[in-house]
Amino acid sequence: MSGTQPTLAVEDLRTAFFTDKEIIRAVDGASFTIGPGETVGIVGESGSGKSVTARSIMGLVDSPGRILEGSSIEYRGEELVGKSEDAYRKIRGGDIAMVFQDPLTSLNPVYTVGNQIREAIRLHRGLEGAEARELAVELLEAVSIPDARRRITEYPHQFSGGMRQRAVIAMALACDPELLICDEPTTALDVTIQAQILELLQDLQDERDLSIMFITHDMGVIAEIADRVNVMYAGEIVESAPVGDLFDNPKHPYTQGLLESIPGRHPDEDRLRTIEGDVPTANEPARDCRFAPRCPEAFDACEAVHPVPVDVGQDHTDHAAACLLYPEGSTEEERVERHRQLGNAAERVIGGETDSNTDGEEPQTAADGSGGEHR
Ligand code: SF4
Repeated sequence: MSGTQPTLAVEDLRTAFFTDKEIIRAVDGASFTIGPGETVGIVGESGSGKSVTARSIMGLVDSPGRILEGSSIEYRGEELVGKSEDAYRKIRGGDIAMVFQDPLTSLNPVYTVGNQIREAIRLHRGLEGAEARELAVELLEAVSIPDARRRITEYPHQFSGGMRQRAVIAMALACDPELLICDEPTTALDVTIQAQILELLQDLQDERDLSIMFITHDMGVIAEIADRVNVMYAGEIVESAPVGDLFDNPKHPYTQGLLESIPGRHPDEDRLRTIEGDVPTANEPARDCRFAPRCPEAFDACEAVHPVPVDVGQDHTDHAAACLLYPEGSTEEERVERHRQLGNAAERVIGGETDSNTDGEEPQTAADGSGGEHR
């Protein structure tokens, strides 16, 4: 991807929710890119910040949530953070479309499926009447819905779960997007249908050179679909690598735990391995490793120093992990000092925003409504 402008470039994304009691840092400094025709997986447990990342990109963060100053989301080189709702509406469903876990979130039960696809075509391509109808039939055929000309006249409740998700993907394609964000689109489906939807997405990607951001908690799904994977934990990306490297040579103890808990990984064992405990709510600036309470490798410094991503790849594979065990080949003292220094440098760059606020006060951006935040 080097030398090519990414379709999407997310840099130091911070999205926080400001409640009376606390500030929840749902996404806390996430950076990643998605190239043309590339599928990038975002994987992690519930509460890791995956969906808020997607909603931030789509401009769908509702109050009391805000994207913080210093965050950047560039779509083909154009900054999205700070755009007006009108401008965002044009991007949403046009250049960038989203497929949610529950297709009923996107489908209106009182209109036929054809009506809804035609409406998307009218809004985003300006076509009406017979032209729009023909394109709607073509799109349903493209997502492998048989007898599309008849099915187009049916209502969502007449479709099975898998068919509904196909219809939602057809609606997303009606806008001819460059980037498709899929938020757990197969989680509610049985395994066979899930495999069909993944195959469909791959075929559509090949035909249309789509960039796909695929969010899931399921490592098995990631193995099937992703080119590159970002592992999220408590708002941060803790490991990022090409999919083969991540599965063959996971570096972060959290990634190792996720892989160990894939069903069937240890066929000789009676019980499924799990990572004990839950993802913590990130309600303080990161001053330590948020995974430390669950980490089998934790040592004293993990509770005092915030690990930042460092290169862990072999043969320049673009593999990074945010863990004090790396970089390999140096002493514990050297590693910890390296993370401390990198963390301090990043904090200076962030400047007056949330994380420079070391004493737990409310950041200015939240308290004074002074415009230091974005929708
Ligand atoms: S920094 Fe420490 S606690 Fe965090 S993942 Fe690495 S070893 Fe575990």
